[in-house]
Amino acid sequence: MSGRAQRAIELLPEAGLDALLVTDLVNVRYLTGYTGSNGLALIGESVCAFVTDFRYVEQAAEEVNPAFDRRRGERDLLEAVDELLPDGPVRLGFEEAHMSVRTHRRLRELLPERVSLVGAAGLIERLRAVKEAAEVDSMRRAAALADDALRWLLERGLVGRTERQAALALEQRIRSLGAEDVSFPAIVAGGAHGALPHASPRDVEISGGELVVIDWGARVDGYNSDCTRTIAAGAVSEQDASIYSLVLEAQLAGVGAVRPGAAGREVDAAARAVIEAAGQGGRFGHGLGHGVGLEVHEDPRLSQRSDDVLAAGNAVTVEPGIYLPGRLGVRIEDLVIVTEDGCEILSSIGKDLIVVE
Ligand code: ZN
Ligand code: ZN
Repeated sequence: MSGRAQRAIELLPEAGLDALLVTDLVNVRYLTGYTGSNGLALIGESVCAFVTDFRYVEQAAEEVNPAFDRRRGERDLLEAVDELLPDGPVRLGFEEAHMSVRTHRRLRELLPERVSLVGAAGLIERLRAVKEAAEVDSMRRAAALADDALRWLLERGLVGRTERQAALALEQRIRSLGAEDVSFPAIVAGGAHGALPHASPRDVEISGGELVVIDWGARVDGYNSDCTRTIAAGAVSEQDASIYSLVLEAQLAGVGAVRPGAAGREVDAAARAVIEAAGQGGRFGHGLGHGVGLEVHEDPRLSQRSDDVLAAGNAVTVEPGIYLPGRLGVRIEDLVIVTEDGCEILSSIGKDLIVVE
């Protein structure tokens, strides 16, 4: 039995389920190893099966963990579910955060009345939040590769390039260094544009004296990295530098609060308190951080509303920011792994303000 499938099956009784239909492809990948674009998994006390269609049979034979009974279905894989379920009444969980209303209706039509469909939330995601050593290793390599790409970019300077050119160069470098992809389209946002936390790069030149927010990541073995540095394109004003220092102080306080047992709210509060004490609380309008793994945003969350509690093996970002509309943005983000006694920072680019021309 695959360890992951076993751990997932152990979660079913307390969720009141006899079996779980896993249709979210990221969760399917996590459980089975399958990376194709059509597949589902069905797990329970008496079933551990994977279904795909004709196009992926070969790929599945290579990728899918042998603990799973591999089946070939039609394009509509749901047709295979009924015959895989045990006899008698079955409480079948489905992933309510991922299944469309249409798919749910189709599933209801296909299944006999003895099967009741029960919305299940976050079961596989809960397992994914605690990384195994091999997953941490992939993330460590993704972060190192992404950092190499940024160093390469900064050595070539920022002033006079457009944000879009800088972002494209960074993304190309990430790919040519061997990443399978970028984690997400890189953000390069200079001056006032940096005040938009999720800015898209523009065809606007970066000019001297601006702070430039760069948020980027690489994907290795399916695992993402996520990091932000705010770089000075030439010397910046003293006021701008002091805002940078404030965000850095908050970021260090946040990283210092990361340890097993800490609540997501507590870690958020540790960083937020620094910014609030400086009277800038209203300028930090997002959560402190998020889990990262097969997806860029996953559990656990570090925010004022989070109910998550950190555990060793979590991979989270710590990314406070201050955004002054019409003027500038500063965000500093590290990717960290929660360890037995604190955390390991995967991001390796220094956090004292870096000035490049
Ligand atoms: Zn980021
Ligand atoms: Zn992030």
